[in-house]
Amino acid sequence: MATIFTKIINKEISADIIYEDDKFLAFKDISPQAPIHVLIIPKKEIATVNDMKKDDIDIFGNLFFIAKKIATEMNIDKQGFRLVMNCNEYGGQTVNHIHLHLIGGRKMCWPPG
Ligand code: AMP
Repeated sequence: MATIFTKIINKEISADIIYEDDKFLAFKDISPQAPIHVLIIPKKEIATVNDMKKDDIDIFGNLFFIAKKIATEMNIDKQGFRLVMNCNEYGGQTVNHIHLHLIGGRKMCWPPG
């Protein structure tokens, strides 16, 4: 089912887009949890990690590769950053279109809340 991220992909609502190609999009999170908070999403609608098919393995690999490139461009690669993908209610997922959070620019805590 389409979510707000589909509207961002289709440019029906605006977002601060920092990367785009034919299959992926990255934009700044509207409610940043750190100085750098970017969401990397596939244009293909996959609701949750639970919906991942074997054919989607490349998509997930590309999300990480794009995150790594953005982290390097934003100069947080050496100090480090966090990549998070939430799944369903207990994972804290609020938008049912898979997205990788790239969070950085401050020291992270562990365990997460
Ligand atoms: P999650 O809770 O893992 O599903 O993450 C969803 C993220 O999407 C949250 O961090 C929200 O702040 C973010 N978000 C929701 N709507 C928008 C939007 N229109 N533009 C940018 N980020 C959004």
